[in-house]
Amino acid sequence: MILDKKIKTTCSYCGVGCGIVAGVDAQNKVQVQGDQDHPVNQGMLCSKGMNLHYVVNDTSDRILYPEMRWSRSHPRERVSWDDGLDRAAGVFKSLIQKYGPKSVGFYISGQCLTEEYYIANKLTKGFLGTNNIDTNSRLCMSSAVVAYKKTFGEDSVPISYEDIELADAFLIAGANPAWCHPILFRRLEKHKEKNPNVKIIVVDPRKTDSASFADIHLQIIPGTDIILYNAIGKRIIDIGLADKEFIEKHTENYLKYRKQVMATSLKEASKLCGISVDDIKKIAEIIGESKGFISMWAMGLNQSAIGTDKNFSLLNLSLVTGRIGKPGNGPFSLTGQPNAMGGREVGGMASLLAVHKDLNNPVHRQEVANFWGVNEISPEPGYSATEMFDALESGEMKAVWIICTNPMVSLPNSKRIEKAMKNAKFVVVQDISHKADTLEYADLVLPAAGWLEKEGTMTNSERRISYLNKGINPPGEARPDVEILCDFARRMGFRGFNFNNTEEIYEEYCAMTKGTNIDISFLNYDRLKSEGTFQWPVPEYRHLGTPRLFADNKFYTPTQKAIFNIPAQIENTSEKTSKEYPLILTTGRIRDQWHTMTKTGKVSRLRTHYPSPVLEINPIDAYLDKVKDGDVVEVKSKNGIVRVKAKLSNSIRECVVFLPMHWGKQLQSDLNRANNLTKTVVDPQSKEPDFKFTTVSVSKY
Ligand code: SF4
Repeated sequence: MILDKKIKTTCSYCGVGCGIVAGVDAQNKVQVQGDQDHPVNQGMLCSKGMNLHYVVNDTSDRILYPEMRWSRSHPRERVSWDDGLDRAAGVFKSLIQKYGPKSVGFYISGQCLTEEYYIANKLTKGFLGTNNIDTNSRLCMSSAVVAYKKTFGEDSVPISYEDIELADAFLIAGANPAWCHPILFRRLEKHKEKNPNVKIIVVDPRKTDSASFADIHLQIIPGTDIILYNAIGKRIIDIGLADKEFIEKHTENYLKYRKQVMATSLKEASKLCGISVDDIKKIAEIIGESKGFISMWAMGLNQSAIGTDKNFSLLNLSLVTGRIGKPGNGPFSLTGQPNAMGGREVGGMASLLAVHKDLNNPVHRQEVANFWGVNEISPEPGYSATEMFDALESGEMKAVWIICTNPMVSLPNSKRIEKAMKNAKFVVVQDISHKADTLEYADLVLPAAGWLEKEGTMTNSERRISYLNKGINPPGEARPDVEILCDFARRMGFRGFNFNNTEEIYEEYCAMTKGTNIDISFLNYDRLKSEGTFQWPVPEYRHLGTPRLFADNKFYTPTQKAIFNIPAQIENTSEKTSKEYPLILTTGRIRDQWHTMTKTGKVSRLRTHYPSPVLEINPIDAYLDKVKDGDVVEVKSKNGIVRVKAKLSNSIRECVVFLPMHWGKQLQSDLNRANNLTKTVVDPQSKEPDFKFTTVSVSKY
């Protein structure tokens, strides 16, 4: 490794949050290696992390200067920062004056740093006068957020990675950490290798690499997760493995839970979810008799029309067994993006306020308004991710500012997103790469600094805050996102955006956390730089951080008790298979790619794993559809068409097909885009889209 300059930082991809040491030579060329001293990864990196330097060193796709078009009939041309930001401020002012603050909004990203998230939220909620700011984290974690809030009183992940080495039973639900959280999974593998008695159960309609490693793989019928977890809960109660003392002293609503789980016999449940009664019994015993039980989940549960209810049913298993607040026990949502949690801490969703305060609480709104020195925060909830694009399509919203995300590929129902973008009066895209499909619709493009080109902080899946150092200068005229936003805010005439550096923004946010459950008022940049990472809360001087919450069995609800929430619906009925659309499509991720591939797609060695998207289909379904391995197939849903090669595989359940979500038009063709097929149905509680449940037909093309 080149050692001219050595910088400690954090991987910019998934929520595991691995430590990286970046070496920078005199020519600004970067190399990376895992940070041996980092508590998360102890030197390990996965394929994406270990190839990050290729992404940074290859600037061929970078946006180097602002571009703008004066009308839709003209091409975009290079403009100065002054011209670009003055126009943006002029358009936002005139739209707000004419149509009100709800006519504008920001759509940002779980890859934004905490300081960027904070400034974007302060600008929108505090000064533009609208709560129209949402993030692509809505697409991955919002069901878990709502479930945590309703169960524990706040959006708080109770445990840590170190609990993995203390547990002996793991239930991995709707997640493939072997591919999507690889270094975390490596810790689990090592733990199992050392302790063969550890039991790993994976629930997934596909036999993924995670499922292949598991002791038990439950190949569930999509949409029936709640039925399975309720059946496991019922069995735990039936055989006397429920923790009666914990339930009585520290929970509410148990009788309603008991009533719901008892209403379905194991035989009925088995028929509905496709898991044998014997397996349900076995799992209940493993969980109930274990010393440490950890549930882990990701998009398979969250991305559903009943995602919050699915989360409730899984969290209820931790409550019924009293497996929370103790070492090696607890529920653990696996964050998809590197800073989805940091974003939530600063209120980075249309429905949240900073420091876990509630938008629908007038006292909280006034506290935040007072802190920012504004009269009020609007009580009206802003548009969530999909609602924002609905509003652009209908004309209720006129302008959108998109930062660090590529909705043309990642949001459901691509045709509808395209209509929304075309209908918008003014679209700003602030990004690093020309390869983002969304750029096609931008009136103003602003070049942003990328990873290692700016400083700031992030929080990973286990509440661990890390400082990301700046190692190199951004190319061309690219600027850090906070600088761009503060510059825009000042041109709008707003006070409160005259920061001298990113550290001052961080300090303002830290001051806001004082006395809250996420207090980091004693965690400054100096400590993060000299002592490393910390898990919030860090409420006192010299405090070393908090690996585990609720050790005293006191939760953040008004009664300090955890709440059994009862799923309103136990099965996903957002669509029904039919003769025309007989299969259920589930979309997801592959090992070596990240999101819409604007970064990982640049690295040739990462493209070898899957050079192009393929549709995984069970040989029986393929036989019925007269499809052979390698045939190009047409996948149709009510919303659109995709044409890709078929891969016959016994690892996927009959009647289910799988398509990766990464590819878009810039990379191949818009006929490879999985979200052509998905629909705009969302969970009514979390507003998270139903990505995993689209009825489709497959035919040879
Ligand atoms: Fe980066 Fe996640 Fe891989 Fe760690 S596991 S190196 S954080 S992508």
